Amino acid sequence: MSSPLTIISIIALMVCGCVWQARSDDIKVMLASAATVPPTTMASAVKSTSLTAEQALQRLIEGNERYVADKATHPDQTMDRRAELTKGQAPFAIVLTCSDSRVAPELFFDQGLGDLFVIRNAGNVLDDHVIGSMEYAVEHLHVSLIIVVGHEKCGAVSAAVAGGEVPGHIRSVVEAIAPAVETAANLPGDKVDNTVRANALRAAGILAHVEPILKEAIGENKLMIVAARYDLDTGRVEILKPSEPTNSISKTP
Ligand SMILES: [Zn+2]
Repeated sequence: MSSPLTIISIIALMVCGCVWQARSDDIKVMLASAATVPPTTMASAVKSTSLTAEQALQRLIEGNERYVADKATHPDQTMDRRAELTKGQAPFAIVLTCSDSRVAPELFFDQGLGDLFVIRNAGNVLDDHVIGSMEYAVEHLHVSLIIVVGHEKCGAVSAAVAGGEVPGHIRSVVEAIAPAVETAANLPGDKVDNTVRANALRAAGILAHVEPILKEAIGENKLMIVAARYDLDTGRVEILKPSEPTNSISKTP
């Protein structure tokens, strides 16, 4: 409970109480525009994406629609693309999602090499390594969109909902999801699915207030952060709205 991330989370949740709700009707206030941060030695030699956050999100949605309809085009997977990417990378979206083998963002968004900056762990939870990876992609690769994708029947979320003791370091995963379990505890419907949604929304809400890089990028209209849920049955990615009932994060002290 005393880790830096926990403290950040608590502070972020306190801030969320007054800010997140105010944004509930229009997350597009976090509209992106082209970033102007100069590259570093780690940065891409390829020109950064010129997509706005809205355009990036639309590209993901359209790719997912192809995937759902079994009309995936599998773009950017050619030998030429590989050769192009030896010069650097310019992904247009950051995806945080679960390590679950059924949840593959390049597949369900129908994107290819160099398109997505993907971070995965069980339960798509936040820690300093996850946030640092995102900050690198925002600061140096000028990515304008972060999407946190939870998924149906997530085992990590199910373990957190079930409660009780878990062995080894699995406990840290379950503990990271515990606040979302509490958020969704009194909602009608499926507890696991409600928690999946709350967990993704909570992560997006926290990220929006993580200083300095992410919060500043949002303030400068260079970054948008959204939450989503992937459906195992249909393959569809549903964009979650902060105003949905599961977003009782705004009421969490
Ligand atoms: Zn999962």
